[in-house]
Amino acid sequence: MAEKLKKTDVVLLGVGAAGGIAAYVLTKAGLNVVGIEAGGRLTGGDEKLNELAASDHYNVFGRPKANREIPSWRPNASTPAIPSTAGARATPMMNAVGGTSIHYATESWRLNPWNFKMRSETIQRYGAGAIPAGSTVADWPVTYEELEPYYDKVEYEIGISGKAGNLQGKIYPAGNIFEGARSREYPLPPLRRSGFTDLMRAAGRRLGWHPFPNPSSAHSESFKDTPACTYCSTCMNGCFIGAKGSTDMHVIPAAEATRKFSIVTEARVMRIENGKDGHATGVTYIKDGREFFQPAGVVILGTFVFENTRLLLLSASKAFPNGLSNNHGQVGKNYMAHNAAQAVVAFFGGRKLNRWGGLSAQGESVDDWADDNFDHSGLGFIGGGMFRAGMGQSPIVAANSTPPSVSNWGTAWKSWLKANSNSVAAANAQCDTLSNEDNFLDLDPIVRDTLGVPVIRITFDLKENDRRAAAYLAEKISLWFKEAGAVETWTTPGRPFSLPNHAYGGTRMGNDAETSVTDRWCLSHEVPNLAILGSSNFPTCGARNPTLTAQALAWRTADHLVDNWKSIAR
Ligand SMILES: Cc1cc2nc3c(=O)[nH]c(=O)nc-3n(C[C@H](O)[C@H](O)[C@H](O)COP(=O)(O)OP(=O)(O)OC[C@H]3O[C@@H](n4cnc5c(N)ncnc54)[C@H](O)[C@@H]3O)c2cc1C
Repeated sequence: MAEKLKKTDVVLLGVGAAGGIAAYVLTKAGLNVVGIEAGGRLTGGDEKLNELAASDHYNVFGRPKANREIPSWRPNASTPAIPSTAGARATPMMNAVGGTSIHYATESWRLNPWNFKMRSETIQRYGAGAIPAGSTVADWPVTYEELEPYYDKVEYEIGISGKAGNLQGKIYPAGNIFEGARSREYPLPPLRRSGFTDLMRAAGRRLGWHPFPNPSSAHSESFKDTPACTYCSTCMNGCFIGAKGSTDMHVIPAAEATRKFSIVTEARVMRIENGKDGHATGVTYIKDGREFFQPAGVVILGTFVFENTRLLLLSASKAFPNGLSNNHGQVGKNYMAHNAAQAVVAFFGGRKLNRWGGLSAQGESVDDWADDNFDHSGLGFIGGGMFRAGMGQSPIVAANSTPPSVSNWGTAWKSWLKANSNSVAAANAQCDTLSNEDNFLDLDPIVRDTLGVPVIRITFDLKENDRRAAAYLAEKISLWFKEAGAVETWTTPGRPFSLPNHAYGGTRMGNDAETSVTDRWCLSHEVPNLAILGSSNFPTCGARNPTLTAQALAWRTADHLVDNWKSIAR
């Protein structure tokens, strides 16, 4: 029997990148929030400063939880499921206060206005026939313009380095000319340049493209109480000096300082409970082998795509026999994994590129071939991808970057690396993946985690549109490297798609409960006091990293809860 705790205003499930933002906004507004977090707390001293240790660190990212519940994967419904790609590395989502923002690569992108209207804009320009058969691609129920103030708030709260390309409608070619209008310049200037990023910028401009400095939550200057980035290149292990906009460094401490936010760490939510009227009543969680029930006026689910979906499906009840908020059968639908199908590697002859230091997010990006920034007539696909040439080449990655003509083991391999590994660069595009009726998440009927709970089963494969986009983008990246002086380029199959870290959908947002799980405020259509955070809400993935958008949405949802507290809370 679960021990019943004192009721709180809000119970927040998962104190990560999105949950941290919501906690900050809600507690600043005076609401009491209890966070239930599966992981513990990490400090800068826990971060590893070399690549080998980091690989090991990768494997312990999810120690308390995620590594024991790796989703299974199958490419289609008639193939048996296997563990998703390469074991623990396939699910490197962090379990700790701050979530995966602790070790994310700091790429901090806004989506462009077109991403929010992908379906209608495509039909308007190319006709309804341009939407591939089977695709469920949808417009968002919110526009870029509505989200812009929240992007701005997050950028200034956690500190983003970058250069504006569109300030209140005025275009600045030093930044991304394709971005939507911003109300302000970035709070911090771009990360520092290098000979390599200068080389790639000049090449991009010669091609008539519009390269610009990549936005990053690594701090180019000291920010609030934290020092500037030292360019140590290990931010994917966490930042040992806190020069990064992870939520454990910024919004979560500020929320805790209000004394209205308490976090129960090493606690695993098992179910969201609901009452007779269909409203959520609170959550049941396990800590130290004991079961607790935390009642709340509002439940906020912020446990990332897979666990958001899993917890809903596991929370079946009389009122919701197929899982909470799933009476329309939409939970798990419209799953997308970012399409990074082809990485391009380039060899620059004897030219020293000196990419060993710095961060991957410290780079030069190109948006000319993303979204609908180019004419797709006759190309056979819609959407596109942003690509970036960045710093932070690591030795193990370099050791795997030999041309196809060179053996990848033995003496020939070693001598090639010795002579040439400082002359290699790589880039890949992050392409749109279209949601499709064949791609979805559900509970695996066979595989269970160590507590005996079914893991998520991913049914997903890239479709023709996605593959064509990736091949087209790979040609553009190759062209860019060659213009910059590469003597040889080749593509590596790499991971066909990014199953774990850039995952989307499962609780898609929309105006129609028949085709979506949450409404335009990320509140459940079916459970009015249940909010869902994160990229599980995204109707499209867009051609760039998700976290800043998930955080802007989380801020907007929290503001909406504060403004409408009396009508939403129970
Ligand atoms: C290696 C890597 C690099 C990345 N780089 C970038 C990047 O450069 N830019 C970018 O935009 N995105 C990047 N991402 C993606 C980014 O990390 C995610 O988009 C983001 O963290 C998602 O935020 P979230 O709040 O939804 O989930 P998270 O930040 O993962 O937070 C979810 C929290 O919920 C907790 N939790 C889960 N289940 C339970 C449960 N049952 N009970 C209690 N707590 C639970 C987890 O422990 C975790 O703390 C990267 C991801 C990885 C893995």
